[in-house]
Amino acid sequence: MKESIQRLNSYIPEEPLEKVKQKYNLTHLVRLSANENPFGTSPTVKDAVVKWSFEESNRYPDSYASELRDLIMKKTGVPKEQLVFGSGLDEILELLSRTFLEKDDEILVAGPTFSEYALHAKIEGAKVVNIPVLADTGHYDLDKFLDNITAKTKLIWLCNPNNPTGVYESKKNIRDFIEQVPKTALVLIDEAYIDYVTDESIPTNFELLSQFENVAVLRTFSKVYGLANYRVGYIAMAPKLAEYLQTIRLPYNLNSLAQTAAISAFKDQKFVQYSVQKNAEEREKWEEFLQVNGIKFFHSQANFIYFKYFDADKLADKLLQNGFQVRRGLQKNWLRVTIGKNSDNVAIQKIIASDLNR
Ligand SMILES: *Cc1c(COP(=O)(O)O)cnc(C)c1O
Repeated sequence: MKESIQRLNSYIPEEPLEKVKQKYNLTHLVRLSANENPFGTSPTVKDAVVKWSFEESNRYPDSYASELRDLIMKKTGVPKEQLVFGSGLDEILELLSRTFLEKDDEILVAGPTFSEYALHAKIEGAKVVNIPVLADTGHYDLDKFLDNITAKTKLIWLCNPNNPTGVYESKKNIRDFIEQVPKTALVLIDEAYIDYVTDESIPTNFELLSQFENVAVLRTFSKVYGLANYRVGYIAMAPKLAEYLQTIRLPYNLNSLAQTAAISAFKDQKFVQYSVQKNAEEREKWEEFLQVNGIKFFHSQANFIYFKYFDADKLADKLLQNGFQVRRGLQKNWLRVTIGKNSDNVAIQKIIASDLNR
């Protein structure tokens, strides 16, 4: 057993909905703890999956995900050889640490941020340097990031918008930051929630790829595309780096059904737009609600909202008893709630309001 693994706690995955229902004796349960798309999945995906030819079951899938790759290249302008697909973005996160980190290397992450960046670094025996977000706004402390770069810093993780804070860093701030990062460190911009950003008209940082060889952009089909079950994510990076990842990834990491679903979902940008618009409307109402009630929160540009509550665990229990599962345990007294459908948001806010008045 690798020494680095003995001390680790694994990522705690979501329990199946039915199991949670049984455990708490619930008839109705809405999961708002995993940032899944509350509007489901594009109906075109259902057609595509049902029509998928079962006769291909005995054949290995297309290892290169050619059709999906083509589509993404056309939409993003990123050349094909710069794209690497993974079984969910999770696999890409793992591959990055496996490829670039050796024992005693360092990575920089925000505190709090997506926990898997640190998990995979620790498996490789690397050191995780945690830079707290700014207490009042939740923004990245990018100056502190720069101060903490050493010759051993190999990976710098920017989750944008950040999970769990929901806070978005502008393209200008990210560019200014990257211009000061030495070429020995790779900056990874995780854009899992980028489609939900409305504060900037073209929020993605894809354009940095052609100017900086030490920048990569990561995307997933699990969130706004509503395909969490199919496990499709990808990274766009310099051709030479992409080749390293291609070399060590499993050859058939994306099965044909997953590819079929992703192709279909990607073509239905109307569903994406609908989800983004609904989310933005509900997000605004959430922020208004929290503001009015004097609850501390960070300005969100994602499909979830992160707020501080004096009795967070009790509130989470109360919400669960009422059929709403939210994310706790990220920071003491903070909860992360996926922005749901209007009726669910209204119901949750009612429960919070009555809890405040108890
Ligand atoms: C959900 C999430 C992922 C992982 O997505 P999958 O494609 O489902 O593996 C990666 N990064 C962030 C920030 C996420 O929130």
